[in-house]
Amino acid sequence: MEKPHVVPPVHARIVEGLERIATALKSDDWACAQSVGLNPTQLAILRALETRNRGMAVKELALLLGVSQPTATDSILALERKALVEKHADPADGRAVRVVITGAGKDAVRSGEAAPGAVAKATAALEDEDQEQLLVQLISVIRQLQEQGAIPIQRMCVSCQHFQPYAHADAARPHHCTFVDAAFGQQDLRIDCRDHETADPSVRAATWMEFEKDRSPNPPGD
Ligand code: SF4
Repeated sequence: MEKPHVVPPVHARIVEGLERIATALKSDDWACAQSVGLNPTQLAILRALETRNRGMAVKELALLLGVSQPTATDSILALERKALVEKHADPADGRAVRVVITGAGKDAVRSGEAAPGAVAKATAALEDEDQEQLLVQLISVIRQLQEQGAIPIQRMCVSCQHFQPYAHADAARPHHCTFVDAAFGQQDLRIDCRDHETADPSVRAATWMEFEKDRSPNPPGD
C-alpha cells in the first residue's frame, strides 16, 4: 500500500528554504570573492574588518565567521601577503595582536560589492512591506541562535544598549537610537551596525520583550 503523503512540519520546511538560499549565497560569495582574487573566507574577513576601526583578534574573527582558528590564521596570512590586512599590537594588551584592514583591503571589499549577487537581487525584488517583515523574522531567528549559544552576539539593534523600541508614537518611526539621538522605523533595524554596543543580558531580555510585545498585531486586550 502506498504510504500516506507526509508533509514535514513548518519549521523543517523553513530550514529547507534557508538551505536553498544558503546554497545560492555560497555561489554568490564565490563569484564575488573570485572577482577580486580571493576566496569567500578571505573576503568575509575583509568585510568584518571594514566596519571595525580597532580591528579584531584572530579568535574573534574565527568565532564571527564560524571557522576554526587555524583556518582564520591561514586566511589572514594570505591577506597579509596581499597587503590587504596588517597586524597591530593591541593597545590594551601588548602581547595580543589585532588584525586591521588596509586601504587596499577596503578597495577590494568595494570592488567585490559592485555587482549585486542573485540573493541580493531576489531580496530587493520583494515588496517593501515583505522586505520589512522578512528582516524582522530574520532578526528573531538570529536572536534565537544567540540565545542558544550557536553564534556570538551580533551587532543588531535588538541587542544594543542604544536601542529603545517603540519609544515614539509615530507608527512609521517608532524606535529610538540614543547613539545618534534619532527616531527610526522597522525597516531601518540593523543586523550589523558599526556603532553597536552590547547591552547587558538583563537589558537585552527586557528590550526584546518590549520589541516583541509592541510589534504584535494583536496586543493583549484588543
Ligand atoms: S547604535 Fe546601531 S545598533 Fe545600536 S540602536 Fe543605534 S542603529 Fe541600532
